[in-house]
Amino acid sequence: MKISNTRIDEFLEDYEEDVQTKKEKKPEKKILCTKCKGSSFESNDDLRKHFKSDWHIENARRCTDVFINKLHNKKKLESGFFDS
Ligand SMILES: [Zn+2]
Repeated sequence: MKISNTRIDEFLEDYEEDVQTKKEKKPEKKILCTKCKGSSFESNDDLRKHFKSDWHIENARRCTDVFINKLHNKKKLESGFFDS
């Protein structure tokens, strides 16, 4: 999905800017994945690895499935409307 990849890139870019400005201090805040509840990462590299992990891919896929199901239901409703 091109859209979600772009979102991940934007998210990582935002985070990298944040780290660079606070580089002198040790970051106390842990990195959290918005899609995986209970996830926390020490570094941006760990987060990047996490994005490729089965755990994250499964969670991302579930989010996408919900979105696609909504689209399909909407199409069914629309086609049913036009058929009648
Ligand atoms: Zn995740």
